[in-house]
Amino acid sequence: MENVPPCQESLSEFLRVEHLGIAVHSLDEAEPLYTRLLGVPPYKRETVETEGVLTSFFRVGPNKIELLQSLNPEGPIAKFLAQRGEGFHHVAYAVEDIRASMARLREQGFQLLSDEPRHGADRQWVCFLHPRSAGGMLVELCQPRLEVEHSG
Ligand code: ZN
Repeated sequence: MENVPPCQESLSEFLRVEHLGIAVHSLDEAEPLYTRLLGVPPYKRETVETEGVLTSFFRVGPNKIELLQSLNPEGPIAKFLAQRGEGFHHVAYAVEDIRASMARLREQGFQLLSDEPRHGADRQWVCFLHPRSAGGMLVELCQPRLEVEHSG
């Protein structure tokens, strides 16, 4: 996929809100609650070892809700829960080219939490921006990860 030509540089490369992330103490307790609230069960659970989280995803029309449970008492979700309790944790934006967005945001003074895109849940490349530099909101950038079939 080619980059947007220079004449369109002023258009936002944030395509849409990819999902909203909600921190919970326990997926076993939160999933039934969100299933009753949203009227649909989660479509997947996925462990993201590198982030130390167990995630659960719900579809709401064209949107996604991600529940996050910490797998580690020292992890960022556990710290968030200890400080603020369960609730809204991050907003994730889909971007066309995550490396280009990271470079632009870094250039503009935003604090990125990783130098390289990382493997996120639900087949995404992801990068987080520190809330300190993003108006008090934890921001996640997402770009779909193209799965490569290995035949051996
Ligand atoms: Zn997320």
